[in-house]
Amino acid sequence: MPRPGEASSCYLIRAGETALLFDLGSGAFAKLQLAIDYRRVDAIVISHMHADHFFDVVPFRYALKYGHLPFEQRLALWLPPGGKRSLGALRRAVSTDAPEDFFDSLFVVREYDPGETLTVRGVSIRFRQTRHYVDAYAIRAQSGERSITYSADTAPCDAVVELARATSLFLCETALGVGVEDANDRGHSSAKEAGTMAQRAQAERLLLTHYPAAVAPQSLVHAAKQHFSGRVDAAHDGFSAVV
Ligand SMILES: [Zn+2]
Ligand SMILES: [Zn+2]
Repeated sequence: MPRPGEASSCYLIRAGETALLFDLGSGAFAKLQLAIDYRRVDAIVISHMHADHFFDVVPFRYALKYGHLPFEQRLALWLPPGGKRSLGALRRAVSTDAPEDFFDSLFVVREYDPGETLTVRGVSIRFRQTRHYVDAYAIRAQSGERSITYSADTAPCDAVVELARATSLFLCETALGVGVEDANDRGHSSAKEAGTMAQRAQAERLLLTHYPAAVAPQSLVHAAKQHFSGRVDAAHDGFSAVV
């Protein structure tokens, strides 16, 4: 769930003139407009089809349809494999009379192949499957020497560490907060585990995100620092980092 006054997962990645969104959770579209004119977004990439990572495609769709300035082209919306089926279910949930092309008239909706590299206006995007309750994909955006690797939702995972190898910024979930570990059926990480993954990957910098309201961000940073030698911050709405 979102923290009070904040939105669920959404990350704006900018490289030169290129603007990408990784995830678009509930509440994110309102916040996005504080950071960028939404018509300047080049592509949206969704890590997995959980509500806190994609539900705001609905308000984004209404903005493209009814926003006061017309939007000339359809916006690229990349979903994980199987994502189109979930998006179809969301369309029917929004309105029983929503037309078949409710999303497709405003977005170019495609499913990415996690084994392939996507390129959007000079930024290359690679994926690795994470350890989560549904199929989910960590995402690495690379522009020249600089990169951001987003863990998506995951328990500690070798494939995510590999994807994040020497990345400029590792954006890692800490849904379990400080110290707690979930049961055998793992799907999330603690701050300690995020720090360990960052260290194993030899990331330059760690940014903690997707943490619960009950946990003080500084305690997360402190816990991760015990395991990672680089800079650590905790994200919040509006937080920006230059890498
Ligand atoms: Zn999830
Ligand atoms: Zn999540």
